[in-house]
Amino acid sequence: MHAMLPRLRPGASDFPPLQRATLETLQVNLGYLCNQQCQHCHVNAGPQRREVMTRETIEVVLDFLRRAEVKRLDLTGGAPELNPNFRYLVREARALGLAVLDRCNLTVLEEPGQEGLAEFLAEQQVEIVASLPCYLEENVNGQRGKGVFAASIQALQRLNTLGYGDPASGRVLNLMYNPTGPFLPPPQQGLEADYRRELGERYGIRFNHLLSLINMPIQRFGSLLVSSGQFDSYMQLLRDSFAADNLPRVMCLSLLSVDWQGQVYDCDFNQVLGLPAGLGRSRPHLSDIQPEQLPGHHIAIADHCFGCTAGQGSSCGGALV
Ligand code: SF4
Ligand code: SF4
Repeated sequence: MHAMLPRLRPGASDFPPLQRATLETLQVNLGYLCNQQCQHCHVNAGPQRREVMTRETIEVVLDFLRRAEVKRLDLTGGAPELNPNFRYLVREARALGLAVLDRCNLTVLEEPGQEGLAEFLAEQQVEIVASLPCYLEENVNGQRGKGVFAASIQALQRLNTLGYGDPASGRVLNLMYNPTGPFLPPPQQGLEADYRRELGERYGIRFNHLLSLINMPIQRFGSLLVSSGQFDSYMQLLRDSFAADNLPRVMCLSLLSVDWQGQVYDCDFNQVLGLPAGLGRSRPHLSDIQPEQLPGHHIAIADHCFGCTAGQGSSCGGALV
């Protein structure tokens, strides 16, 4: 895989400077262990990975949540549910009154040993964001592995029976889409209508919203662009599509990203690039962060940031407009 960070010119990028505003979301990566091994995975997660956040670091996360006036805990991985302390963390965060969001690959709900997981998420009113790159079986299996589509549909149906996707239940189920190649996603609203129609008619599935993401020119996707000679043209597409209106809404203004060891980054993309938060320390750790001192701090930017402001914009919550 090509080294991507030097190509993205951290410290020399002409992306407009950004400063932190009030912190609203703590996004925590619970480790790289996953029951799947997708080709496009940006953290190379899989069943053999041993990097998993320890109980000690989870206590650091909880301590931070008690100190900070954060509204939401956003859990990612790997498959965050496979961390043995996942349910403990969720219960404690909910008891603190936080909204909790689980970035779920769906198939984990059908894994041996994970019985009762869907019911647990429903009982705790955890919001689920599930990646489903297409509503067609062959496209999903091609990207995520054989049998993944059928298991995902089964898991979505199970979540629906628990009230997920029903606006009256308060149990939110959002799906996530990203393009398969070096182009911007189509408008989120039209795509959402297509997903709703196809998943509803074919499988009786309902969901709240479809979130569309722009592919970042980093990690495996970035490396593929370099290998195929498309890196420069994709970067040009992102630059040409720059929309200044999206700047006040980029997620790093109000989000802090934590890796499985407790180290802090301005966003998940910077975490996978190994670009530490621009907080004036080389490798900031969550235990050293004073939440009240975050507003006003510079954010570590590089050329991949154009991926957040292109077209409709892009964030962990989907398009920005
Ligand atoms: S499900 Fe997600 S975390 Fe797991 S391998 Fe696939 S992309 Fe990576
Ligand atoms: S890539 Fe990260 S740091 Fe850059 S604009 Fe997007 S969220 Fe902010």
